Amino acid sequence: MHYSAWQILKNGLRGGKNWRPLWHSKEPKKSYDIIIIGGGGHGLATAYYLAKNHALKNVAVIEKGYLGGGNVGRNTTIVRANYLLDGNSQFFSHSLKLWESMEQELNFNTMMSQRGILSLGHSDGQMDSLARRGNMMISQGDDAELLSAKELSDYVPYVNQTDPRFPIYGGLLHRRGGTARHDAVAWGYARAADRLGVDIIQNCEVTGMIVNNNTISGVQTTKGKIKADKIGMAVAGRTSQVADMVGLKLPIESHVLQAFVSEGLKPCVDCEISWGAELFYISQSDKGGLVFGGDIDKYNTYAARGNLPAIENVMEAAMALMPMIGRAKVLRSWGGIVDMTMDGSPIIDKMPINGLYLDGGWCYGGFKATPASGWCFAHLLATDEHHEVAEKYTLDRFEKGYLLDEEATGATPNLH
Ligand SMILES: Cc1cc2nc3c(=O)[nH]c(=O)nc-3n(C[C@H](O)[C@H](O)[C@H](O)COP(=O)(O)OP(=O)(O)OC[C@H]3O[C@@H](n4cnc5c(N)ncnc54)[C@H](O)[C@@H]3O)c2cc1C
Repeated sequence: MHYSAWQILKNGLRGGKNWRPLWHSKEPKKSYDIIIIGGGGHGLATAYYLAKNHALKNVAVIEKGYLGGGNVGRNTTIVRANYLLDGNSQFFSHSLKLWESMEQELNFNTMMSQRGILSLGHSDGQMDSLARRGNMMISQGDDAELLSAKELSDYVPYVNQTDPRFPIYGGLLHRRGGTARHDAVAWGYARAADRLGVDIIQNCEVTGMIVNNNTISGVQTTKGKIKADKIGMAVAGRTSQVADMVGLKLPIESHVLQAFVSEGLKPCVDCEISWGAELFYISQSDKGGLVFGGDIDKYNTYAARGNLPAIENVMEAAMALMPMIGRAKVLRSWGGIVDMTMDGSPIIDKMPINGLYLDGGWCYGGFKATPASGWCFAHLLATDEHHEVAEKYTLDRFEKGYLLDEEATGATPNLH
């Protein structure tokens, strides 16, 4: 069914009884050409682009839970292309362009809203570094505007610029950045992949991999053995556990990242604001809740539940940035497991085992990468060549020392 205003009218008049499920619930076949482990945004986008761009349709996505239950449905929905480093910059620029055409491409409302991303600067040094980043974004073909303190106070008057601890000198505005409804992105890619013949298999956990002579030939799952010549791992926070099934130790640690939403309020925050004094960011959802978050909890864990010190940190930052937030009630908080690499940048690469591929290490920034990650991982799986915008995301950069350390913090995930 093609979604259109006419379908909404027709189905509305018929009591909404003719809508069909977005994708078919399939049982696994005995074998596929390619299996993607993980039905998050990245796995589903990869399956879609394998079918769409490379005409590879004998593909399955194996998800241990339900679609949207992982980080794709837990993130704070921010989409942007404001990266500095050669390698990251081209990749995220490509991703933002794919976001801009996603709703037409998938025929699905992902509620993409280019409301702008504002990064704040708290010192002359930080303003210099925002100017440098903005110049890089512009030279890459993206947009950036440096705002003075006065321009900033006109733009976001509720922000406290005169806190003596964290004075605000100005900011960098990226107008094409914004938000999108996170789980709709998973549903949109799932529907589009299903329409092209991809099998989406939920409630099926991969428990092992079948490897002979350093070559992979399939996976063991809770629904039995499934053969495939190529296996792609797109399991986000579980990357180290799934890689461990074949004895691979990756430069990845798992941490929990928490997020928060307030009660619904009238529109008051009309862009996304990133505080520069510490990691804190905030936007307002279309339902009215203020959606905000901060840094990862500082210990390794696979439990998607955070702890109080990180919550206290986030609440203090929120109060310092915009004291009016103290009047709002927090409705709920949640956590997701993020796969932190040792330089803060991802890996899209072949693994040392023939037929095994990885799309992982997205840290806390993989939602905005979803379309380009799917595009580039599909390219790698189909052609065995790196896509040009993802050619720096190799595993051997950790061995050779060519790190993509966007935050210049070194191999310390806590500081990324
Ligand atoms: C609180 C929070 C806020 C965030 N905010 C942002 C943001 O604002 N902007 C941004 O760009 N990024 C953000 N991120 C990061 C982003 O959500 C992730 O980087 C991205 O979603 C990861 O890719 P994914 O969607 O494929 O992951 P997931 O949705 O987690 O998909 C991985 C899937 O693999 C499945 N899986 C795992 N093991 C197995 C197995 N053995 N067998 C079968 N299936 C398996 C899981 O069940 C899961 O569904 C945030 C993350 C969190 C937790």
